[in-house]
Amino acid sequence: MKSNDFAAAVDIGGTKIDLGIINRFGKIIYSERIPTPSKAKFSANKLTELIAQTITLQSEKYHSPISSIGIGIAGQVDKNSSKLINGPNIRHLQNLDFKVKFKQLLDVPCVVENDARCFAYSQAIIGQGKSYSRVFGVTIGTGIGGGLIEDGVIIKGSHQGFGEIGHTLFIADGLLCGCGAKGCLEQYCSASALVKMGIKSLKMPDLTGPVLSSLYKNEKNRKVAEIYEKFANNLGIGLASAANLLDPQIIILGGSVIESFSLFEKHLRYGYDSYALPGVRDIPIIASNTVHSAMVGAGLLSFKLSDVA
Ligand SMILES: [Zn+2]
Repeated sequence: MKSNDFAAAVDIGGTKIDLGIINRFGKIIYSERIPTPSKAKFSANKLTELIAQTITLQSEKYHSPISSIGIGIAGQVDKNSSKLINGPNIRHLQNLDFKVKFKQLLDVPCVVENDARCFAYSQAIIGQGKSYSRVFGVTIGTGIGGGLIEDGVIIKGSHQGFGEIGHTLFIADGLLCGCGAKGCLEQYCSASALVKMGIKSLKMPDLTGPVLSSLYKNEKNRKVAEIYEKFANNLGIGLASAANLLDPQIIILGGSVIESFSLFEKHLRYGYDSYALPGVRDIPIIASNTVHSAMVGAGLLSFKLSDVA
């Protein structure tokens, strides 16, 4: 294989980081998942050092010399500096210039892109969206992210904020969001919003996402089902607003909460169909069937850098 056949790929989210090495077809050579360290535990500098060390070690182990690194990150990325300029859920990583840092640490070019765009890119290039020319990918995690890919190109907008569905308004003057506004969609149907709804409704202060999910999948608890139905209906309404504006051909959903998609799909579809305009009402809304899509998308994007170099 040629020396530029492998890329390091990283997806930094609010609670976990996926890192790995992929080939140019998006096949994962190695990957692992670690919890996102808090500021108190790890500085941004230390985190990049850990990522670089791990990649170096694994690249030797798997005989996969990397020629670039792609970082997907939960927030808005500055076009010129590659700094995270608005990451409500990982503020402590703001102000770090990833491109400069990884050039120092790994001596390879680095691309940094919003994680939901990386997810959408991966879906559009090698995933379930590859037969569509206008793909909207939406990730549901700590927040809700979105990315629109048209003919294999990420639509970025004028200020890097294109596709930020999580911070579209759902209820005026509603719940306070991490971005500082009140009533953003992600306060009503992100995975963390779902857990908050569960804590309140079930009166279980220590409830976690995996526990709630397991209650939903394994027990026929009406109260739990109602929480998911509300969540799915909210998400469907939010997706309809976005689709009315962006006019995609397909919507692909990602994030661990989507594992239960088949159970709540009809409630999501009901919310969606109630608000979607005729043109977009019939488009498919599907759940991603691959893991690590955002990580893979980040790596795929970085190949463009090594191809130019
Ligand atoms: Zn917001």
